[in-house]
Amino acid sequence: MRVSTFDILRCPYCGGRLDLVESLFNRRTADSIEDGVLGCQCCIFPVVDGIPVMHLQPMATTAREQIEAGRPDLARRTMFGLEDAQHADRFDRVAAAGTATYRETVEALGPNFEGGYFLYRFSDPTFVVAQAVVQAIGRTVLGGARRAIDVCGGSGHLTRSLLGLSGPPPVLADLYFAKVWLARRFTAPGCEPVCCDGNAPMPFARGAFHLAMCVDAFMYIWTKRQFVGEMERLVDTADASGAVLIGHTHNERTWSPSHGQPLTPEGYAALFERRQPRLFGEAGLFADVVDRGVLDLSRRDSTDALDRDPALTIVASGHPGVFARHPIERAATATGEFRLNPLYAVEPDGEHLRLRLTFPDDDYAQEYGACRRYLPDEVSIDAQLLDALPAAAVPDALAELARRRVVLDLPARYY
Ligand SMILES: [Zn+2]
Repeated sequence: MRVSTFDILRCPYCGGRLDLVESLFNRRTADSIEDGVLGCQCCIFPVVDGIPVMHLQPMATTAREQIEAGRPDLARRTMFGLEDAQHADRFDRVAAAGTATYRETVEALGPNFEGGYFLYRFSDPTFVVAQAVVQAIGRTVLGGARRAIDVCGGSGHLTRSLLGLSGPPPVLADLYFAKVWLARRFTAPGCEPVCCDGNAPMPFARGAFHLAMCVDAFMYIWTKRQFVGEMERLVDTADASGAVLIGHTHNERTWSPSHGQPLTPEGYAALFERRQPRLFGEAGLFADVVDRGVLDLSRRDSTDALDRDPALTIVASGHPGVFARHPIERAATATGEFRLNPLYAVEPDGEHLRLRLTFPDDDYAQEYGACRRYLPDEVSIDAQLLDALPAAAVPDALAELARRRVVLDLPARYY
């Protein structure tokens, strides 16, 4: 962790500032802490492999004891949930190699790690909408000079969308150590990862951020009222120009896969106490992104449209530029590298290559099949065109495929 993160980090329980406990084992430089123990007025928390673990679940307590005993290697295994020594050795080797891909690293974590669909996240319909919303709001309220936090952001796929927009690098907060560790290494390099529990008060100072977002996770949070209160607190700045974004949360009135414990549209709205939020049905936002090229946050969806939509996006902001029409910008240069979307199988076909849309399984097809609205079933291209990939900028001949998301800006060493 960066030492500068102490400016915004607070104990989730006493609200106090934290500092490194110098008398206990630690490894640090002038600017960063690799391993150590942080103390406030009430608790101590471990920093494991550069990631502060700001909760008191049993694995965090075990890891803290291992750090105190001078065994950061064991503390990391504990936080990864690697209990079997052979499995842990194998993972340590993959992680240390520095050449392993995201996919290989996820596979080394084992079948219990929820990695399956993350490989395909950058072109799934939920992501495509969320990315457009995050970038539109991020450009408006952050402007490259203010900070964002992605709460329950998992392995950082959307945090990545904030990298150029958040002034100090965005904070990625999630309960799962392995996910934020993967994000820092692969998906959102440069982000500041923090482990914390979304069902507890958040370990950050009031007004530390101008954008607090939580996408595709809020329906799994039990303490919803506290969570929204915390999101409002995190963006409670003197100029009141921040935004709270709850993206892709399920709707109690319309069933969807991985339903969670959703609320009704008005139930969600009632959680906000500082500022009345606006709710959007995801179908309208999806059509904006896929068909119109403009994300229209000035619209007011009807009660009926909200009730019928399986997923909602909720935005609260005092910034006058948020509830407007936002042209969708597609970067010509990559954050990582332009590569073929991993959903495409490549088959030789004479002088050509046939790219065929291939879902990993039926469950994926059922949950994310709407990607067929922009991903063609089959494309035939000149065989040598793919030789230009990976590329830092979209080659002209592949511009149309990039527009259709057959070619994607993916993290380096992704698969
Ligand atoms: Zn405390």
